[in-house]
Amino acid sequence: MISIRAKRYDGNTSKREEVWLDWAEPGFVNLRGENLNKRYALSEIQLAPPLANLPRELHFADGSLCEVEPSPAIDTLFAPAGSRLLHRWENNLRYAFVALLLTGAVVWLVMEYGIPALSKQVAFALPVSTEEQLGEDTLSGLDRFIFMPSKLSAAKKQQLSKIFQQMLSEPESHYRLEFRASPRIGANALALPSGIVIMTDELVALAKHDEEIIAVLAHELGHVQYRHTLRQVLQNSISGLLIATLTGDILSTSSFAAALPTVLVQTHFARQFETEADDVAVLYLRAHKISTAHFANILLRLTESHHAHEKNVTDYLSTHPSTNDRIQRLRN
Ligand SMILES: [Zn+2]
Repeated sequence: MISIRAKRYDGNTSKREEVWLDWAEPGFVNLRGENLNKRYALSEIQLAPPLANLPRELHFADGSLCEVEPSPAIDTLFAPAGSRLLHRWENNLRYAFVALLLTGAVVWLVMEYGIPALSKQVAFALPVSTEEQLGEDTLSGLDRFIFMPSKLSAAKKQQLSKIFQQMLSEPESHYRLEFRASPRIGANALALPSGIVIMTDELVALAKHDEEIIAVLAHELGHVQYRHTLRQVLQNSISGLLIATLTGDILSTSSFAAALPTVLVQTHFARQFETEADDVAVLYLRAHKISTAHFANILLRLTESHHAHEKNVTDYLSTHPSTNDRIQRLRN
C-alpha cells in the first residue's frame, strides 16, 4: 500500500487537519485522519496542475481540498491507466464532448474531401485493361439484374450508333453504345467504366428529336470523361468501410462486397458529378449549334416518366440535383 501525508481543508471551515492518503485498491483513495475515514473514487478527485514548488492541490468532489508535497509519484498515482491527459479527458464530460465533435469534424472532412480526392486519384490511375474488365463485368451484371435485350430495329440501332461515333472527339475504340430494354428503370442512360454507354429503348421512345438523344449522350460522355462511375463506386466502398470501422458495424460493409451493379443502380451520382456532366453536354451542344432547350426538354420528360417508376430504383438522369435546378443552369 502507498500512503502520502497531506493537509486537509474540509471546504466549510478554515480548520486544517493532518491526514493520510492511502492507495489500497486500484481506482480508489482512502482518506484517513484522526476522526476521519473516507473512500473516494479517483474520478472524484482533480489534481491541480503543478505550480513551481508549491504544494499540489487535490480537489475532491465534495468540496474538500488536500495539499500534498510535490513529487513525481503523485502524478503517477493519479494516472493509473496511461497518460494523465487521457485520464482527465476520460473523466471530464466537457472534454469528451469536444473530442466527439473533433472526431466528427475529422470524419466529415475525410468523407467530404479526402475520400473523393483519393477516389479520383485511383480512378484515373487505374490501368485501361482493368477499367475495361470492370466495364464488361458491370454490363453483364446489369444484364442479369435489370436489363433485357433491346427491341429496337437494326436500322434504329445503326442510326444511333452512328450519332454516338460522330460525337467522339477521337475514335476511341473501346467507347461504345449499347441498347437495352428495361421496364424496371424505364427511360434512362448509364455510363459504365471504360466508356460503355447504355441507352434504354424507353429513352429512345421518349425522345422527340435526335438532338435530345445527342444531349443525353453528351451528358453520359461527360460522366465517362470524368470517370464518375468508377469514382462513385470507389467513394461508396471506402465510405462504407470507414463507417463500418468507426461504428464496428460490419454489416454496413455488405455494400462493399455487393456487386458493382447494385451500387450503380441504387446510388445517385453526387450533385457535383451531374453538374460536371451537364457542363460537358452544354459545351458540346453549343459547339455544334444545338439548342440547350433540347436538353432541358428531355430532362423534363425524363423526370415525368420517372415519377411513374418505383422509387427505390434511382438513376443517372433523374432528380439529383433537382431537374429544376439543372434546367435553370441550362438556361443561364
Ligand atoms: Zn448524369
